[in-house]
Amino acid sequence: MSLQNPVFIPGPTNIPEAIRKAVDMPTMDHRSPAFADILHPALQGVKKVLKTEAGQVIVFPASGSGGWEAAIANTLSPGDKVLVGRNGMFSAKWIAMCEAFGLDVTVIDVPWGEGLPAEKYEAHLAADKGHGFKAVLATHNETATGVTSDIAAIGRAIRATGHPALFLVDGVSSVGSMDFRMDEWGVDIVVTGSQKGFMLPSGLAIVGVSPKARAAYETAKLPRSFFDFRAMEAGYAANGYPYTPSVGLLNGLKVGAEMLLHEGLDNVFARHRRIADGVRAAVGAWGLDICAVDRSVYSDSVTAIRTPEGFDAGTIVTRAAEVYGMAFGVGLGEVEGRVFRIGHLGQLTDALALSGLATAEMVMADLGLDIGLGSGVAAAQAVYRHGNDETREEAA
Ligand SMILES: *Cc1c(COP(=O)(O)O)cnc(C)c1O
Repeated sequence: MSLQNPVFIPGPTNIPEAIRKAVDMPTMDHRSPAFADILHPALQGVKKVLKTEAGQVIVFPASGSGGWEAAIANTLSPGDKVLVGRNGMFSAKWIAMCEAFGLDVTVIDVPWGEGLPAEKYEAHLAADKGHGFKAVLATHNETATGVTSDIAAIGRAIRATGHPALFLVDGVSSVGSMDFRMDEWGVDIVVTGSQKGFMLPSGLAIVGVSPKARAAYETAKLPRSFFDFRAMEAGYAANGYPYTPSVGLLNGLKVGAEMLLHEGLDNVFARHRRIADGVRAAVGAWGLDICAVDRSVYSDSVTAIRTPEGFDAGTIVTRAAEVYGMAFGVGLGEVEGRVFRIGHLGQLTDALALSGLATAEMVMADLGLDIGLGSGVAAAQAVYRHGNDETREEAA
């Protein structure tokens, strides 16, 4: 594996130089006043990226999965009913965690490749006259299949029924790469991890918490200790943590949020859309299918690509790593061996994306797939080329 090449896994992402420098700092006493100058700007920056004014941000030394646990443990009680959509490996794992916590889980199953259906959430909630469901869970971007679900629509469905359930959202592979509007969409808890859209190394679980979720954690009875929001709130009020924080990573988070806001969130999202459009154009030119069923659910942070029947997609990932020093994502769960994934989130440029597509072509040709060298690259170039806005629109 080369450390010079960009990675094309859907997280961890490539780490921008400015963030690597920010993370690499001498030891600072986390109880000194100087720590407040890292902590508060980092939290404020994340708030802007989440588009929340009413909510607060809490950051744990953990991976994104720790954020899932925090969302559950702080707001729910043993045996509580929750309504969850499952359309891939990550939503499935969150459901498994709900079950491990002894929640009573109602699953809305949809085929992998489809988005989570707001109308089915609405039907379940409308039928729940006694307001048994305490929370509704949804994964914004299913990283296993490259499918983005309409979180705004699920939020509207909850409001349309007047149901009081909390709305908990996995935004791990969307926040910072695609538009996310916590307040406007009525999201009570959103979870992400430092190694995705914020472009840091892994190690931070980043959680946005609404006032409604805050009220819920006063009465929720699931056991919680390390992930207790109340302890973290008390820590922040005193400019510190209830335990030893990852100071360097928090300094990186401050810079990561600044970078996104400086580029402008709309520009960041447009860049992700353009790069993803180029990747999708390449896949089309290769004559392969995208796992996501149609463009209404195409993800701008990761594309899962189906390989021909009988071909082991995992060999693409192995050969790319061993022979060309480049990392692509393997298929997970149900689509293991049947898809490989190109992650295109974080600090990528058009030129870097072309290098990934060119390498993928060499690998697939080596493995005997009928891929014309340069075919996908040319299709992506047509999307990325300046002064070629017509082609760009067609590809979109
Ligand atoms: C990466 C990812 C996770 C898990 O995050 P970890 O940091 O590996 O714990 C959860 N959900 C989605 C959608 C992801 O992409």
